[in-house]
Amino acid sequence: MQYNKELFVDVIIPISIDIIFTYQVPFEYANELEVGRRVLVPFGKKKKVIGVIVSCHANKPNIKTIKYIDSVLDKEKLFLSEHLSFYKWISSYYFYPLGGVLKTAMFVEFKKNILISHSIDRYFKLNQKYTLELALKEVSAKKKSPAQEAFLQFFFKGNHKNYAYSDVVKNNFSYTILKNLIVKKIIILYDEIRKTNYNKFPIHLNELNKDQLQVFNSITNSFVEKKPILLHGVTGSGKTEVYKHLIQKSILLNQSVLYLLPEIALTHQMFYRLKSSFGDRVIVYHSSLSEKKKKEVWDVILDSGNNVLVLGTRSSLFLPFKNLGLIIVDEEHDQSYKQTIKAPFYHARDSAIVLAKLLSINILLGSATPSIESYYNTTLGKYILYELKFRFGNVDMPEVNLLDLTLIKKEKLIDGFLSSDFLNKIKLSISKGRQVMLFINRRGSYSSQNCHSCGHVSQCHYCDISLTFHRSNSKLICHYCGFKKNLTIVCEQCGSHKIILKGEGTEKIESTLSRFFHKSKINRMDFDSTRKEGEYRSIIEDFENHKVDILVGTQMLSKGLDFSNVGLVGVISADSLFCYPEFRCNERAFQLLSQVSGRSGRGASGEVVMQSYNVSHKTFTYVKDNNYSAFYSDEILNRKKYNYPPFSRLICITLKCKNILLLNNASFLYAKLLKDKFNVSFLGPEFPVKMKLANFNFKSIYIKMNKTKSISQMRNLLLSCNSYVSSQFKSVSIVVDVDSY
Ligand code: ADP
Ligand code: ZN
Ligand code: ZN
Repeated sequence: MQYNKELFVDVIIPISIDIIFTYQVPFEYANELEVGRRVLVPFGKKKKVIGVIVSCHANKPNIKTIKYIDSVLDKEKLFLSEHLSFYKWISSYYFYPLGGVLKTAMFVEFKKNILISHSIDRYFKLNQKYTLELALKEVSAKKKSPAQEAFLQFFFKGNHKNYAYSDVVKNNFSYTILKNLIVKKIIILYDEIRKTNYNKFPIHLNELNKDQLQVFNSITNSFVEKKPILLHGVTGSGKTEVYKHLIQKSILLNQSVLYLLPEIALTHQMFYRLKSSFGDRVIVYHSSLSEKKKKEVWDVILDSGNNVLVLGTRSSLFLPFKNLGLIIVDEEHDQSYKQTIKAPFYHARDSAIVLAKLLSINILLGSATPSIESYYNTTLGKYILYELKFRFGNVDMPEVNLLDLTLIKKEKLIDGFLSSDFLNKIKLSISKGRQVMLFINRRGSYSSQNCHSCGHVSQCHYCDISLTFHRSNSKLICHYCGFKKNLTIVCEQCGSHKIILKGEGTEKIESTLSRFFHKSKINRMDFDSTRKEGEYRSIIEDFENHKVDILVGTQMLSKGLDFSNVGLVGVISADSLFCYPEFRCNERAFQLLSQVSGRSGRGASGEVVMQSYNVSHKTFTYVKDNNYSAFYSDEILNRKKYNYPPFSRLICITLKCKNILLLNNASFLYAKLLKDKFNVSFLGPEFPVKMKLANFNFKSIYIKMNKTKSISQMRNLLLSCNSYVSSQFKSVSIVVDVDSY
């Protein structure tokens, strides 16, 4: 840096605004300026906040008063410029302020002490360069600091011994004193212990079979092309083992690896699988970890001496890895990779592809049922495709049997949902000592309370959702907002007393089965049974250890789990999968049914039974024949015909307001602007499937954007619509979702 010029830094601040702030820098900090380091800056009237430097320059901005930064916080950069470019990409692609993306990336509100762990695994020692005299002089050079002097006296008395953080606290010294001395580099963090442990642990891997080895070699060779790779391998083909060998390769090159899974629930089993091979190198990261745990992960990641394997959900994409070499996106088709609850509405798979490109590292997507988008990209040559067509150990794919409920209904279903054929198959499987998994789309006892006279279904008072009966507390519950009410005796609509409970849920099935299988142990896995931490784990472990014979569950059951003794998987009613009014409906049904089937017969041959009123639906044929490519060829034609993704980019604009009249007027105005002013074609405005949630009404407008058009142009256009409509309708809020699901 030149000393004869004034110095400035551009800083992003983690709040949801789209402004980069410029500050002047006192010369004493000239040598510490670097993109990616954090600075403390004055902000607003009294506050000081922490921001990240995104550029350093000598261009005086054209404003009246420019503020000075307070201090530079890091001795090394926290973020690489590639991470910052990644945050900028998320911001511009998903229409979300850069400061807001930074806020999402940071796990806590930018605590100053992020680099220093409180853990007792961490030790401190004196920098050998210092004598007591020199150190004392240094700490009080600018300003007298009796606390730091006292601390040094204490430290020197201990004969340069290493201290743990707990020793410091025991001797009544505060954490801040320690931190300041570390920042001054008088005291050094001492991590030898953990590092040696890391390197000592040998990696244990299974030998790959011929097919796996071939795929492994091809992937390794293809990595030089720096294109994303899609591994399409049938369920149980041993994709995970291939991933492990690729991970080993990176680790031996001293690189870190990010292994992404779509849901927190899946991390548990995978953690143990990876730990058995890679020991303590495996670290789990997701949004429901405690702040303390998250901080520990940050500390390890920032400690560039360690090459780690992070097993995480989508939020781990924001971790500032220093030496990342490989990203694996397991179950890449899974819709949970898309953030839908809170903006930015990013898709973790797509974002991972961008991150890998920015960092110029390898990325591998894997699935037994690849997403239409990813598979389409392999046909365009954007991704490279590899396949594993057979299960590991020559185990056959399970046999899939369909039970036609229209025929069976004539002979009466047990409790309205179980055919005797189905029941017999369960019996047979259990008698052979094999376990059974039963899948249902709903939780609760019965799905709804209906009036037999007028058909009225009991609805939530605040949402456009029918209430579900829960036997455990005898209440009707809204699965969206949690609203509860008692069962009614008279119909709210027509006054009839003929109230019935209709449909079937996990609780109800569990209790019906227990009537037929007294001797068997039955368990249930759904949102209600896994609310408490650790419950999910114990359900999985009990099933793994064959303490449970029959496991009944919701779609939670369908994903990625590996149990070797399952002889039968049953889908109680497949029909509800086909009636979602949206373009991904067939894809989801195919994925879900294939994935559920994939839980059967992993160790030895197995069977799948699906009950449906609609057995001629062609999706069943594709699932039965395990024929992904036929499914794909069919589905891609539909997408093309109706110009849906991957042929267009689907943007959904949702307006939200309690007052339905204002909502209608606002969405009408929005549509008019799009059409008359910007000449953009769109669908809607219309009420979405769930038109009312938690007392808010919603209306959506869909744009199928031409993919060759510029996204930034669209962004500017929509932002101007947003601000105009918001200014006319203050109570209406507007959300834009790019690549809407
Ligand atoms: P996928 O991820 O493709 O569904 P998995 O990796 O879970 O398949 O493999 C299925 C089962 O086969 C697992 O229990 C796994 O441990 C076992 N397996 C796969 N490959 C090997 C191998 N090379 N050696 C030993 N066991 C293997
Ligand atoms: Zn009625
Ligand atoms: Zn509700």
